[in-house]
Amino acid sequence: MPRGEKERRREVEKLTSLNLMQGNKHEIISTPSSREGQGLVTEVGSGNCKVSIGNEILVCSLRGALKAHETGYTNIVVVGDEVLVNVEDAVVETLLPRRSLLTRPDVFYTHLQQIVVANVDQVLIVASWQEPHFWPELVDRYLIAAEVNQLQAVICLNKIDLVENEGDFQNALQPYHSLDLPIIFTSAKTKKGISELQTQLHERTTVLAGLSGVGKSTLLSAVQPDINLRTGDVGSTRKYKGMGRHTTSQATLLKLEKGGAVVDTPGIREFGLANVHQSELISYFSDMSALAEACRYSNCSHVVKTNPKYG
Ligand code: GDP
Repeated sequence: MPRGEKERRREVEKLTSLNLMQGNKHEIISTPSSREGQGLVTEVGSGNCKVSIGNEILVCSLRGALKAHETGYTNIVVVGDEVLVNVEDAVVETLLPRRSLLTRPDVFYTHLQQIVVANVDQVLIVASWQEPHFWPELVDRYLIAAEVNQLQAVICLNKIDLVENEGDFQNALQPYHSLDLPIIFTSAKTKKGISELQTQLHERTTVLAGLSGVGKSTLLSAVQPDINLRTGDVGSTRKYKGMGRHTTSQATLLKLEKGGAVVDTPGIREFGLANVHQSELISYFSDMSALAEACRYSNCSHVVKTNPKYG
């Protein structure tokens, strides 16, 4: 392990607190009225949001009835929401039913849940082989979080141009090959695996997970050269009044030209597994759960490998 890697991981673990769960799938808040267009929320600021309608971005406020509605979450309209908008007044009138939710404890009111993003289809777990060093425990956390949320997980192993020892590389990845999920090997530098990544992102809404520096924005630029992960500047803009180009938004949704969208959110980059009890963990490791059934200890965490006769 490179120098300083242990401390870096400890620091990341301290920051972790995201709790992902499903819910609120079929709720419709408010009722539709005339002059409405359907759009997709791409950023949320304080009291307003950016809605992508066709090729335009409209900065909208929220109808009072929406704000007054008790949802059980600390935020109302979130990135990824499909909404009906009164286009003339630039007001979000209706929140359409959600397919999925990622939530975590609110930063200020930790007993309440905050929605991180809605309507995501898959989690793209981006890891790099080097710089930063491959960290399987973090990949496992993301895999469990995806499973808890019933979201498809996809592993993207980037910077394969930095692989020096093929044997070490294969050994580290071997446990993931037995899982029933897509694994894409990429190098944003040599462009290897980029077309496979493009296919995986096509027509899906994908939330990105991965440490800073693993190459998420470089990969996306390889997928779509004009994409700008850092600023969330999408297409032409109308009615920008009252909302700066760089907002206080937690998450940014970027539409892909060929269909689909990616969501970058600081909220998912580094997270723990609040609300998943230790005894439940084993059920999220599909390769381990069959073996665990044969374990003779009822409260075993199956962390220590012992003689198969005894546990
Ligand atoms: P992010 O923080 O995850 O978005 O990472 P960036 O996209 O900003 O990339 C971090 C650094 O890794 C940059 O210096 C990139 O040029 C570099 N990088 C990204 N992908 C690759 C790759 O496939 N191979 C190599 N060698 N470097 C890469």
